[in-house]
Amino acid sequence: MPTGNSAPVPAHIPAPDGLELDEAHMRHLVSTVMDRLMPILADLPTQPVHQPELAGADELQALIEPVPEQASNLDDLLKRLFSDCLPSSLNATSPGFMGYVPGGGLFHAAVADLLADTLNRYVGVSAVAGGFAQLEANVLRWFCQFMGLPQTAAGFLTSGGSLANWSAVVVARHHQLGEEFSRGTLYTSDQAHHCVAKAAKLAGIPSSNLRVLPCDEKQRLSLPHLQEAVTADRASGFTPFMLVVSAGTTNTGAVDPLDVCAEFAAEQGLWLHVDAAYGGFFRLTERGERGLHGIERADSIALDPHKTLFLPYGTGALLVREAAHLKAAHASTADYLPAASAHEDVWDFGDVSPELTRPFRGLRVWLPLRLHGVGVFREYLNEKLDLAAWLAQELSEIPQLELIAPPQLSILAFAVRTPAGQSDAVRNEVTEALLRAVNARQRVMLTGTSVGGRFVIRVAIVSFRTHQVRIHMLLEDIKLGLRELGL
Ligand SMILES: *Cc1c(COP(=O)(O)O)cnc(C)c1O
Repeated sequence: MPTGNSAPVPAHIPAPDGLELDEAHMRHLVSTVMDRLMPILADLPTQPVHQPELAGADELQALIEPVPEQASNLDDLLKRLFSDCLPSSLNATSPGFMGYVPGGGLFHAAVADLLADTLNRYVGVSAVAGGFAQLEANVLRWFCQFMGLPQTAAGFLTSGGSLANWSAVVVARHHQLGEEFSRGTLYTSDQAHHCVAKAAKLAGIPSSNLRVLPCDEKQRLSLPHLQEAVTADRASGFTPFMLVVSAGTTNTGAVDPLDVCAEFAAEQGLWLHVDAAYGGFFRLTERGERGLHGIERADSIALDPHKTLFLPYGTGALLVREAAHLKAAHASTADYLPAASAHEDVWDFGDVSPELTRPFRGLRVWLPLRLHGVGVFREYLNEKLDLAAWLAQELSEIPQLELIAPPQLSILAFAVRTPAGQSDAVRNEVTEALLRAVNARQRVMLTGTSVGGRFVIRVAIVSFRTHQVRIHMLLEDIKLGLRELGL
């Protein structure tokens, strides 16, 4: 509304001052923050990947703060952040970070967040920020194409893979079972990410209806166990409704037999959900497309752009083969909202997802993808596959080591070879000691897991900053570690 100046200006409610920054102040804020960030990024290759000891409860107690009644200056606050808080963390931005599933954190996405948060538009409803909502829809359409889903597919961005998997269970439950789902059973493997069980719980599936099946020797879901479980459940009056498979497990990077599972799910009328939070984007590469064959048959797919598209934490995605199913599970209306679009090409995210007001997540994906084009991402993903294959080859030539899980994509697991007949406890202790010795050098950060009762060291090559020099350091540190342990 244009502001006229004919009415007398009321002056009895004084406007407080402070929150509306002037240009000089805003530029100062951004440039001060940049001055703190740039040296840290420049130094990344030589920074330790982690502290030997992370903060304990005592150190954290010292950070508890009273409600801040008084103003503080920015420099003091940045000092708190950079000097008191930052050191007590694993350095997930480092090229040496190969524990868990690394993130990385493209800087472009931080810039996109600055844009999105400053413009602060409402992308949940297309009618009020149509252009921005359309850009986010474009991103999701690209994701659907990356995965080989048909034109009928749709999706939305979440804060991460856990919430994408949760929404998948809700959509499947709604579509398959309607409102009476107490007898519905859900199948997954014992290598599935723990958030699958959490998703089922949050979706109201009774924990006694979750079937966690044993895997084959390659840590992949085993069809005979699945068939047996489904048959037994039907005989006991349950309604099998959903199969959750992994396209790259967090543990060892194993890819479940997607084609076989798709066949079985179709035959049995199960909703097939693929948890591709770690592995999905490898489908951009030729090897990934082969390795993930069958993913295009899924009813839904969870992805984590904050893993294999290298974004900073806070972006996951759920894709659903039939937009109508997504909509049916979520659509609801209110008198105070603008009407949802009737046009099928216009997406109202508030209508197809659990959230209404939320950040404009699409921009942090859109900006890097448009700036570089998908080809660059494909090259980086290919590099991760090459690095994992090279590391596996090098490890297989170290006689003291045994490759327990060769890389199907870019995660692998190995252990120290021990003479037959040794107890699990003894074998595990040696490998744990090697992990400690490697991490102690602080050039890489690896984590362990257990495969069939055996402790193994995992290497997850996911960060866009991890290149061959770092994998070479890893090999050096493994060899030094073996020597230190007298092996
Ligand atoms: C990381 C991961 C998840 C969980 O995703 P978040 O983004 O951490 O919530 C789920 N499944 C797999 C296979 C993962 O690697």
